[in-house]
Amino acid sequence: MVGLDLIELADCVRPEQLIAEILRQNPQMPVPVPVEELARCAGISKIEAFSSSGFEGALIANDTKSDGLIFYNCQVPRPRQRFTIGHELGHFLLPWHRQNSFHCSADDISARANKDWEREANQFSAELLMPTVLLKQRIHSSAEFGLSDVIRVKDEFETSFESTVRRVVELSERAYAVVFSKDNLVRYSIYSKCFNSRLCVRKGSELPSKSLSRLDASSLDSWHELDSSWWLTDAKEGTENPGSIYEQTLVQEDGYKVTLLTYAPA
Ligand SMILES: [Zn+2]
Repeated sequence: MVGLDLIELADCVRPEQLIAEILRQNPQMPVPVPVEELARCAGISKIEAFSSSGFEGALIANDTKSDGLIFYNCQVPRPRQRFTIGHELGHFLLPWHRQNSFHCSADDISARANKDWEREANQFSAELLMPTVLLKQRIHSSAEFGLSDVIRVKDEFETSFESTVRRVVELSERAYAVVFSKDNLVRYSIYSKCFNSRLCVRKGSELPSKSLSRLDASSLDSWHELDSSWWLTDAKEGTENPGSIYEQTLVQEDGYKVTLLTYAPA
């Protein structure tokens, strides 16, 4: 059972403050986080699936935001549906999201979001579904946290692979970079705060020819060592790149791949 004291939540302005207060009120938060139950506690009276017609999710609330309806696209996998519901709940609870209706596209509910309030609703949803404290416990329980651990965690938290790996990299205290690609061309990459080097591949670059990421099979069970010059730009003056870089790749459907890079796997 989860519950919410809405008066206490009303003082929270930023996503991380709201999530911290929700977790303070629910110290035994179950995993996967019961996002629909939390939404109902917050005042959402109906959560309804619809078949997409250009929208991924929508919120329709009364003027005082004491009651609201959430609609979500049911033609996407369940983890994606959960993220959408969390996103709309963010629009409902974040005080400066003052409109009483939001219609959010698939881009709005993704890393491609370019409006502040959409990015903030995404941050709210990611932190709600993968609370920092609970996720850090999982990350620190494995000395060589790799892509098979990300798969285990996303199954446990019922989150998508992409949102989970992004959150792991955001919270990890190790040097990680993640390269998202399609058809062996880089889509985008992200870094953990400890990753001090910069990648030599950019959006649209081919994956390095010596990297196992070029293959059509996943390499999750071990780390593949490679001379770091295949992935990293020349080091800035006064700094030094590591000699080797270690990589793992998950091959997904339709040519999509995710490659995790680290300086040293342990
Ligand atoms: Zn939105």
